[in-house]
Amino acid sequence: MADQKNVLVEIRNLCVNYETRLGAVSAVDDVSFDIYRGEIIGLVGESGCGKSTFGKALMRMITPPGEIVNGHIFFDGEDVMTFSEERLRDFRGRQISMIFQDPMTSLNPVQRVDQHLVEAIKVHEPKTATEQAMERIRELIERLGIQKRRLTDYPHHLSGGMRQRVMVGLGLVLNASLIIADEATTSLDVIVEANLVDQLREIRDEFGITILLITHNIALVAEIADRVAVMYAGRISEIGSVENVFHEPLHPYTRGLMKSVPSIRIDDEEELYKMPGEPPNLTHPPKGCRFHPRCPDVMPICGRIEPTLEEAAPGRLVHCWLFQDHPEKEAEAVKVQP
Ligand code: SF4
Repeated sequence: MADQKNVLVEIRNLCVNYETRLGAVSAVDDVSFDIYRGEIIGLVGESGCGKSTFGKALMRMITPPGEIVNGHIFFDGEDVMTFSEERLRDFRGRQISMIFQDPMTSLNPVQRVDQHLVEAIKVHEPKTATEQAMERIRELIERLGIQKRRLTDYPHHLSGGMRQRVMVGLGLVLNASLIIADEATTSLDVIVEANLVDQLREIRDEFGITILLITHNIALVAEIADRVAVMYAGRISEIGSVENVFHEPLHPYTRGLMKSVPSIRIDDEEELYKMPGEPPNLTHPPKGCRFHPRCPDVMPICGRIEPTLEEAAPGRLVHCWLFQDHPEKEAEAVKVQP
């Protein structure tokens, strides 16, 4: 389980822009929060809200026209923004690893499973003998629920779920501390997805690894994660334990998101909630709170001044004026009184 005093990653004021013909798109804007060692934290939000960009930024994998324009990422106390290219190559794999929606984009179709895993070890630990590497791999692969005989298979011989486990194995074989799973279960059918989810939970319990689960699948986060961070238009709206955020969402966007999740108990007659409006154009995001044009609780201050991410309850951070004071908010409240 997560140790809240033991922070693995500190993200501070992280900003990522993409240059386009129409101007800079502010895809991740001033994001700050901590990821605790040993936790499974979900990052959820609508498509295009910046969650995948955030995951890539943690690995310093943003390429032009994207750029990290501000902020710091402290991983195990080291500032990733200061890493040289050589240090980054070692960091990616040995300390942090990523699995994507389609593992075939990361696995080489003409390399066998054992060759992928041996190569991962040898790139980071060149002195390790091949037989030693194979011993580690044989032990690991069975713990991932893949039979040893499948080590000589090529990626196309494996099912989607097995390929994802090989990707997880690439992180575990080097004892990475953080695995980022970016929509890793999206292309799997429900049963294979459930197996992979169980496996991720077991891996966390057995290896003490930290998992950042980037997904639009809120039900998946509810099932597996300890905490959840909700992202809207490049900013974090709310962070807290899964139990608190799902049972009592505080931010108006989180409330809308929770109401729009289909339930198996839903009455056939009952219509699913649809969030009003559209996500903003991030080349010209709305001033103040980026959610204000769609917010059912909007106040005059919301369109002028941006709130900050503040503690609204123990362990609960919310980016909303409903939970913060400001002299202008007080003045407006006085003005509208009869
Ligand atoms: Fe709504 Fe204002 Fe809170 Fe933004 S700051 S979510 S507009 S109440």
